[in-house]
Amino acid sequence: MNLDVRTIMLMWSGINLLGAGMMALISFHADNIKGARQWALGHCCMGIGIFTSTQMSPEWPVWIIASVPFITGCGFGLLFNGIEAFKGKTCHYWITVWIGGQMMLQSLWLGMVHDNIRMVVASNSLLVCVIFAACAVSLRVKATQPLKTAYRLAAASFSFVALMSLLRAINILLKPAEDITLFAQGNVNPVFLVLGGLSQLCISLSLVLLITFRLVSDLREQATHDSLTGTLNRRSFEDESRRLLARATRTGDAMSIIMIDVDFFKHVNDKHGHQAGDEVLRRLAALLQTVIRSEDCLARYGGEEFCILLAGTNEQGAALLAERVRLLYADLRVAWKGESLQCTLSAGVADSLLVGTDLATLVDAADQALYRAKNAGRNCIALHSDSV
Ligand code: GH3
Ligand code: MG
Ligand code: MG
Repeated sequence: MNLDVRTIMLMWSGINLLGAGMMALISFHADNIKGARQWALGHCCMGIGIFTSTQMSPEWPVWIIASVPFITGCGFGLLFNGIEAFKGKTCHYWITVWIGGQMMLQSLWLGMVHDNIRMVVASNSLLVCVIFAACAVSLRVKATQPLKTAYRLAAASFSFVALMSLLRAINILLKPAEDITLFAQGNVNPVFLVLGGLSQLCISLSLVLLITFRLVSDLREQATHDSLTGTLNRRSFEDESRRLLARATRTGDAMSIIMIDVDFFKHVNDKHGHQAGDEVLRRLAALLQTVIRSEDCLARYGGEEFCILLAGTNEQGAALLAERVRLLYADLRVAWKGESLQCTLSAGVADSLLVGTDLATLVDAADQALYRAKNAGRNCIALHSDSV
């Protein structure tokens, strides 16, 4: 295939500059998403570096010739930094400077001192292979959909560029040195460059997809979860519970509800402040998360009230769990500004076998039981069946 290397590299540079513009726009408007700035700058450096290398002439001053591989290398490094930032990790910018420096030194040493273009192209391709492979490994992250798809797509694109760079390096090394100049590298090599350039486009698109899906996930999380405790909010609890109760109606399985309320919570706020109260609620939610199963549903129902819907569990089973939670919570000490806060809770329990599978009726039955637990002196649980 007779493809012109310089033209392909110009295309590659154009893709990067367009990617840079796109990322810059995103980082400007969605500044809560980490990583977009590094990706914008990375794409920009790669675009400028690759473009300048297609125009380079031996008459240029050495410092410009040296800065081209440095800028391009820094661009590759910034892509890696962007991934670190996106994952919420600390960015190691020395990696970027090291990659830029390495690319500059090997280009100068092999190109200007030894006049060996073959080794310049091969060693730079190998370096690109290592960096992009590192990016692909870094993108192997456990995530829920839709983010998972974007992570996989980005990892696959980085891996593909790494593979193309490796094949390009091997191909160059297998050729006789005299056949190779910077922009005439035989028939096979340009094919690797074209495929590499196209996967670069895929990388840019998958990074945009990562950002978009992160925004979607964040919005979904905010709409369905309570920001203080991370549990479901009341609305999504009701949606999820209705779904589970409809299934229980079909299967005849028992479902139960535990309503939990912190005792004398107002005292905590009044005595230690609202933030101490918040911490007490966060710790209770964390405790509840550890005792429920994945198929159960936990929500913050109101101020200091939590509700748990237990799948496939009758009132006795739910009462055992509620009692366990009560004892664990009574033993819990919440450290707050040098003090140790201790609270208790009361709980009401009801199940669908006695009350039916209508959510409002179930909640009401558990609420009445909770009311009786409060009247019985607090720090205890009460069952709906005890009142009938
Ligand atoms: P009881 O034992 O009868 O349940 O008494 P209580 O003090 O726990 O109940 P009460 O309903 O009198 O007070 C609940 C308090 O919870 C009042 C409200 O200011 C507080 N509260 C509601 N939401 C939050 C919150 O998000 N954070 C904090 N710190 N306090 C909250
Ligand atoms: Mg209450
Ligand atoms: Mg209370």
